Amino acid sequence: MEEAKHSNMGLTVKKSENFSEWYTQAIQKAELIEYGSVSGCMILRPYSYAIWENIQSYLDAKFKKTGVKNAYFPLLIPEKLFQLEKEHVQGFNPEVAWVTASGDSQLTERLAIRPTSETIMYDSYKKWIRSYKDLPLKINQWVNIIRWEFKNPVPFLRTREFLWQEGHNVLATKEEMDKDVRTYLEIYKKAYENLLAVPIIEGRKSEREKFAGADYTLSVETLFPNGKAVQGATSHALGQNFARSFGISFLDKKQKKQYPWQDSWGFSTRSIGIALGVHGDDKGLVIPPRVAPHQIVIVPIYFSKQPGYNEKIRKLAKEVEDGLVKMGIRVESDLHDDNSPGFKFNKWEIRGVPIRMEIGPKDVDENKVVLVRRDNGEKIEVKTGEVNAVVLETLNKIHDNLFNRAKLYLQAAQKKVDSIEVLKDIVGKGQIGFGAWCGNQDCEENIKDQTGGTKSLNIPFDQPNLAEGQKCSFCERKAQYWAYFSKSY
Ligand SMILES: [Zn+2]
Repeated sequence: MEEAKHSNMGLTVKKSENFSEWYTQAIQKAELIEYGSVSGCMILRPYSYAIWENIQSYLDAKFKKTGVKNAYFPLLIPEKLFQLEKEHVQGFNPEVAWVTASGDSQLTERLAIRPTSETIMYDSYKKWIRSYKDLPLKINQWVNIIRWEFKNPVPFLRTREFLWQEGHNVLATKEEMDKDVRTYLEIYKKAYENLLAVPIIEGRKSEREKFAGADYTLSVETLFPNGKAVQGATSHALGQNFARSFGISFLDKKQKKQYPWQDSWGFSTRSIGIALGVHGDDKGLVIPPRVAPHQIVIVPIYFSKQPGYNEKIRKLAKEVEDGLVKMGIRVESDLHDDNSPGFKFNKWEIRGVPIRMEIGPKDVDENKVVLVRRDNGEKIEVKTGEVNAVVLETLNKIHDNLFNRAKLYLQAAQKKVDSIEVLKDIVGKGQIGFGAWCGNQDCEENIKDQTGGTKSLNIPFDQPNLAEGQKCSFCERKAQYWAYFSKSY
């Protein structure tokens, strides 16, 4: 019976052979999500919600250091507010879900379920901002979002409902806004690198790909093992567009009326899917240690042939657990004696717990434990007195190993391209093309048509020099900068 369960638990596909099937199986067998009854709406089970809570607490502290305060704005947005910023409404309209009725009666005005909160928040900002003394205004909210996607849903990565934070700042000058937009992108970059162990490419979105209603959008992007890029987070410079549409203005020190400058920035549960997709392996998930709900799982190897040993094993397990918890380490103890160690190893491997600790009769005799790393299978024997220090060090080593492995992959995938044909070939291999580019929307449209859906990822901040008179790699125009292109989610 147990062996049958055992074999059911494992994944039936290899990550390298069928990434999307691997991804779907891995996150379900690890009990991260359940499909909801409406297509594209996912249930975040406790194990994935705990990852989100760890991400939240990291980001929330970083935001607050920049002077941001949290608030909550309503889910429903009256249509007339939603229509105020023209480009914004055009960009979002196809994805907006509307509330049109209550009971059997039609509403007199349709209400949008928030696809993002610029419009509802700025309607209040207009009332709150009068003078330069009211600036900067920095507000964030942690909420859910509905965007009615029609493409195939992919848990975490593309769903109709998701969780995120959206920050909305108002500043007196363009210089402050330009700096602010970079500040939050930097926080997102560090969240990916230092928390989720995911390397990213940072830069500015093209005109075609920027946020609807923004002056410009900055993004962090990474590459999945299936050769598709995925956008990790965005920070938008909204300029004065929304301030003018919503009538937000302030009196400066000379009592002159000015329009303020705004930005908005968001980080969503998509980040969980990105970390899982980047790090997992054929055995299942590998959860990056700094967000893992359980950073270490203790698995006793019971030994019933000699009386007294199981008691000693339990006692040592409890001592070690107490010590680790005191250090702030998140520990799970799997002390049940109705499942075999092999069953438990399998279970926690699929769930991607960074370290497994084994405690058997020999360990009790020798006052030691065995640690097994999830990322590379390495076994480490540790004296019980050194467990705390070695576990802390090993969690950091796992983080570094995951990050470095992914970074090598991301770097190796970047190839210079000098024509649409070469770009098509590169993205066909699941790589990222890097080309000199004119930046024009119709050029990007043409690239997309000629290569089966390739899009620009971003225009990196670190720009190699362009040659004198260098032309666009994809049309006859003059190149403006270098940019990344690939297939993407
Ligand atoms: Zn061009």
